[in-house]
Amino acid sequence: MSKYSIVVPAYNEEKSLRLFYDAVTPLMDSLGEEYEMIFVNDGSRDATKDILKELADADKRVKVCNFSRNFGQQAALLCGLQAASGDAVIAMDADLQDPPEVALQMIAKWKEGYDVVHGKRGKRRGETLFKKATAFFYYRFLRKITGLDMPKDVGDFKLYDRKVVDAIVSLGEHDRLLRAQVTWVGFKQTFIEFERPERVAGETHYTLKKMIRLAESGIFPNTDYTLTLPIKLGLLLGFASVACLITFIVLACCDIAFGGLIAWLFPTVGALAAIILVCQGMANIHTSMIYREVQNRPKYIVAEKLNFEE
Ligand code: UDP
Ligand code: MG
Repeated sequence: MSKYSIVVPAYNEEKSLRLFYDAVTPLMDSLGEEYEMIFVNDGSRDATKDILKELADADKRVKVCNFSRNFGQQAALLCGLQAASGDAVIAMDADLQDPPEVALQMIAKWKEGYDVVHGKRGKRRGETLFKKATAFFYYRFLRKITGLDMPKDVGDFKLYDRKVVDAIVSLGEHDRLLRAQVTWVGFKQTFIEFERPERVAGETHYTLKKMIRLAESGIFPNTDYTLTLPIKLGLLLGFASVACLITFIVLACCDIAFGGLIAWLFPTVGALAAIILVCQGMANIHTSMIYREVQNRPKYIVAEKLNFEE
């Protein structure tokens, strides 16, 4: 028999929590297996803490971590993953935008042998055009610049096998975007497509500022693209300037008129700018290497070993 952990980050979710509990418990009970529900109260200012206390008092399978302030959904998810003791962990939002019946389908996929089951958002109801459009372009951009083969249109609604949880928790970096990390650690992954309903109550907590922070956590720990860009631009500009200079010298030697003294400005200024960009780029590569050292990710992750002594 397996044990499941449901991990739920909750920030000012007083209106959703009981509805969430009432929707999820009968479904999980129907499995006839052991489970726990870990709510991480991310510094809520409403009655979230009291409601969670009541739920925990009435049901010992409900476990609660109260943060000292609002640290953000990614930190709450990490806390839940660290606290979970299940063989499989399912992360879900508290607002029932992640349909509980899809969690059961995820468990079925896990039993088939998948280590990660992503919830892939088909239609998204009740979300602004701005949010849908920014998410659409951001995740495609992120895939391109990080080279990570992240499934498109997935959020944090997923099932993780125990070994995936352990691998993710072992990553040392401070700024985390779980959806990028789960791709980085590898293992056998699949997805289930679902229609994302509207929030059951309350409003989104993702302000523009929080969305930008989240976007940064996806980009900077996962690529050094931004740091190596100057060296690429510098080399390009350098080649263009040298080619221009050679052309001008040839034209001057052949006595062909081509725009006078001012024209020499482009290759000379261009060459100087190229030198500066290349020097900056080299310093950036150093910064990037230092970052990798500080980030201290494992050099590799072993999924399976054969014929090794325990
Ligand atoms: N959340 C959190 N901390 C935050 C913001 C959100 O723990 O600072 C939780 C929130 O309670 C919910 C989940 O993260 O369970 C997703 O948040 P929300 O529904 O506001 O995001 P959206 O679905 O609009 O992207
Ligand atoms: Mg939501």
